[in-house]
Amino acid sequence: MSKSLAIESRCIHLERDNKEARFGAISVPIYQTATFAHPGLGQSTGYDYTRVQNPTREQLEKIVASLEHGTDAIAFSCGMAAISNTMELFNSGDHLIVDVDIYGGTTRLFRTISEKNGIEFSYIDFSKEDVTKYIKSNTKALFIETPTNPLMNITDIEKTAKIAHENNAILIVDNTFMSPYLQNPLDLGADIVIHSGTKYLSGHNDTLSGFTIVRDEAISEKLRFAYKTVGANLSPFDSWLVIRGIQTLAVRLDRAQENALKLANWLKNQKIVKRVIYPGLQEHPGYELNKKQARGAGAMLAFDVDSVESVRRILEKIRLVQYAESLGGTESLLTYPITQTHADVPKEQLEKSGLTERTLRMSVGIENIDDLISDLDQAFNG
Ligand SMILES: *Cc1c(COP(=O)(O)O)cnc(C)c1O
Repeated sequence: MSKSLAIESRCIHLERDNKEARFGAISVPIYQTATFAHPGLGQSTGYDYTRVQNPTREQLEKIVASLEHGTDAIAFSCGMAAISNTMELFNSGDHLIVDVDIYGGTTRLFRTISEKNGIEFSYIDFSKEDVTKYIKSNTKALFIETPTNPLMNITDIEKTAKIAHENNAILIVDNTFMSPYLQNPLDLGADIVIHSGTKYLSGHNDTLSGFTIVRDEAISEKLRFAYKTVGANLSPFDSWLVIRGIQTLAVRLDRAQENALKLANWLKNQKIVKRVIYPGLQEHPGYELNKKQARGAGAMLAFDVDSVESVRRILEKIRLVQYAESLGGTESLLTYPITQTHADVPKEQLEKSGLTERTLRMSVGIENIDDLISDLDQAFNG
């Protein structure tokens, strides 16, 4: 299928670009098999064992590689598996510079398991600090999210990639919040793009998955070797579910993003709301930069309310919006980062990032905007 198709079409039609599909099947078959018979001694159908590769998963990987403009995508059992596998590129004594405001599970991985394995980290605010001041002779990678999680800071991907390469390091971008529909970090110089496919790619809060996407053949080879060795692979059935989710990526995000902007503007006018952080608002300090490097501001926003008491009341009173972790699904979710996604982030890191006990994060879904506003209105003012 033509690579020149627009992304909305590729989300749908790359599924059929599949040499294995028979009988005119429109949907990719689910090859629910652990192993594959060999035609003869020393021969292979191209598939030997599902931990290494499976036709359903391979088709998903081709779709995600195409959406992110990469040459290789690897599908993992979840986003954390993708990040853990990426850490296998580094050795004891290596140093990484990481944004201070990133997914809490990533921080937990770095602070516990990676540090135990001898990898060193510096945590900085990439959107404000000069990263070159933190580069050391053993710095091997810079790791960012943009927008960050949950405070929605915007970092210049192109500039950061340049700094990484000038210092013989690589740039890793967790692109979960934007999805490939809105931002393609490889085009801006990033070396590895990571996704929690659990979020916008799957899109329905029903399947975990994760991805790494690269262009560099040597990095791809190392990641694939770790993958088959460690075994954090995505199952054939879950691969199929993610393929199905991706078909509606563009329409879901268009609607969610439209809702997010309306909601951000509504939140600004609420008495109990003290701060609204959404990169689609012109007053957001990263507004222009985000516009330059992404095709939209996404559907994630954060806001501070006046008190912890208000946080409690809102979370107890919402009916349509659900109080839950995660993001990127059709339904709107409110998250209380300090007790949920970021519960394991040390206090000094929280203070540096500016995440407070009055901060709520919202993943805006694709419901009717008036229904969303009236639900929040009754929770805020009830
Ligand atoms: C959810 C998330 C992860 C972890 O992904 P899982 O699929 O839950 O393992 C990593 N990074 C970001 C930005 C996330 O939102």
